[in-house]
Amino acid sequence: MRRLNWDETIRGDRMNHSLSDSAMDPDVDMSKRIRRLIPEQIQDKVSMFLFLVILPLLFTAVFFLVLTTWYPAFGEAWMIRVIPIIALLFNMYLNYIQVIRVGPNGNDSLLPKTYRAGFVFCPHCRMNAPPRTHHCPVCNVCSLRRDHHCSFAATCIGHFNQRYFCAAILDLFMAALPAFYWTWSWMWLELGTPSVGRMWQLMMPHVALVLRFLSLREFCYVGLCAVMLTTTGFNLYLILAQAFCFWRGQTRVEYLLDIHAYQLGLLGNLRQGLGTRWYLIWLSPFISSPLESNGQSYKTREMEKFSHSAKSL
Ligand SMILES: [Zn+2]
Ligand SMILES: [Zn+2]
Repeated sequence: MRRLNWDETIRGDRMNHSLSDSAMDPDVDMSKRIRRLIPEQIQDKVSMFLFLVILPLLFTAVFFLVLTTWYPAFGEAWMIRVIPIIALLFNMYLNYIQVIRVGPNGNDSLLPKTYRAGFVFCPHCRMNAPPRTHHCPVCNVCSLRRDHHCSFAATCIGHFNQRYFCAAILDLFMAALPAFYWTWSWMWLELGTPSVGRMWQLMMPHVALVLRFLSLREFCYVGLCAVMLTTTGFNLYLILAQAFCFWRGQTRVEYLLDIHAYQLGLLGNLRQGLGTRWYLIWLSPFISSPLESNGQSYKTREMEKFSHSAKSL
């Protein structure tokens, strides 16, 4: 058996460094760890910047620019609305850190040197990869039970970090939904009564700005509302996509490849993807939810059928 640290492999391969280097010098190790956090791909860099810098600024604008229209800043009514949103965002960023820190392959995995049943040779990694593993062209490594590559975290979502991803998108959706509602109400307060004539200006605010139907100030209102709508809508799409895949017992990759071998029923699929305590993972990333699989093999629909028929005998 050859022992490999998958997490190190992912980021180590990105930076073309070997594991043995980091073991020698703690300073080199620290600088490497920091550099590993910076994505190489431009799409990942832009997405990470949006997520870590622009998103907090947007919510700050909603708290101090939008909400203060109705409730004075730091007053009781303002605090009652702002504190739950901050708590959701805090939990979301904790989950986000775990998505990156744990990665799709966890901190440690045992990869067999020899071929095992169900394993597939990856020509890019030159390794035998377990079932449900797929190679990510962005990370340039194989990810266990790969779902998709998340540019906002600059890593793949897979077997070991899917629970953190699911909790993060749910938190962000719950925080963005009331923020969008406030921004929408605030925009119409500033723009005046909604009318059909206004609608095209909302669809194409940049054109309305150039033609002077909207002032720069009004354009900013529409822009903030559009960004909050996009954040809410995109997270809703991600949640529905995850729910759809759990319902079908597939990862996003398996959905595209039409693989149905791992359908264990909704509860079985949730346990497989999010761990045995899947109903608690939404509260905190620090709540343990052990996974049923170590990433090397997975329960299949055939195995499930066999165990059911054995029980009924
Ligand atoms: Zn690979
Ligand atoms: Zn990836």
